[in-house]
Amino acid sequence: MHYEDLHAHIEGTVSAKTLLYLFKKYSNPKAIFPDYVTEHYQETIRVFDCMLSNNASDSELEAYLTNRLVLNEPAKTLLEFLRRMPSRFLKYFIRSKEDLVYVVEGTLKQFGPEYERVEIIFVPKSIENEWLTDNEIVEIFSTIWQNHSRKDKFSFSLSLRRTKEDISIEYVSKVVEEYSKYADKGITKLDICDNEDAVSFMDLASQLDILSTAKQQLTLHLGETTPRDMDFILDNYPNVKQFNHGIQAAFDQEIIDKIKRNDVLLTLCPLSNIFTGVLSEIKVLEAIRIFKENGVRYVICSDDATIINGDVYAPYKYLQEKDPQLLQF
Ligand SMILES: [Zn+2]
Repeated sequence: MHYEDLHAHIEGTVSAKTLLYLFKKYSNPKAIFPDYVTEHYQETIRVFDCMLSNNASDSELEAYLTNRLVLNEPAKTLLEFLRRMPSRFLKYFIRSKEDLVYVVEGTLKQFGPEYERVEIIFVPKSIENEWLTDNEIVEIFSTIWQNHSRKDKFSFSLSLRRTKEDISIEYVSKVVEEYSKYADKGITKLDICDNEDAVSFMDLASQLDILSTAKQQLTLHLGETTPRDMDFILDNYPNVKQFNHGIQAAFDQEIIDKIKRNDVLLTLCPLSNIFTGVLSEIKVLEAIRIFKENGVRYVICSDDATIINGDVYAPYKYLQEKDPQLLQF
């Protein structure tokens, strides 16, 4: 089988074991949390610290964390899925270069030797905190790649959220000017992710013009919840050769034709779509069959494996069981 994952977010792929290490390292029962630590994680940290002071074993602590993070069946609401996302938690607990290296290397280790390519997506602004600047974070990712024994298989994608701060003209200009130098040093792609309704693509157009001048290949999170913006991008930005998700294109032949015309690769995340509730299981399988029949290029990816079964291999196991033909690329 062909294993390739070009769509795995660091925050959603960090393992419970890695989180356990950080929780223990910075355990502080008296901690006052910054605003950005969500209630779900504040409670998790408090209970964890309490278990720790009662001498709970590592396996008990890990089981507790797994229970707080991993969904074993689709979420009832998108919010239920998102509250488990450890982004804010990582922002609070990654306090040194060593911590970030530990998190990234631990995450990469989950992808075994059968993976021919793995691309990990990270958002510098979501990790940035009082201990690490985004310049330092980007440099650390590049250094990890440069020192990595499997660097021919791994690379990183630097992503910006669709928020006013991340996609401000100042920040996208900075990304192009200061981070282009990492294009051949492990950070091979630039991406825009997050809620598709947060900022319209018409508003994003000028930022895309700037990002298109970077040395990295430009990818976009698109077509996860709506087909709306794909048409606009396909017509105006033929340099975008990868849509992360893009599943909604399956139900619009015109968009499929344009995807083929522009030779766009889709990084499909079937279990993520089912677990976040954007599409039913039947629709997800139908969509992948349509792509296959139409000769659309796609890869099967994990998106946020920690929350989805806690296993980066889960989407492969799933399709193997439901329709192994869809894994024949
Ligand atoms: Zn994603």
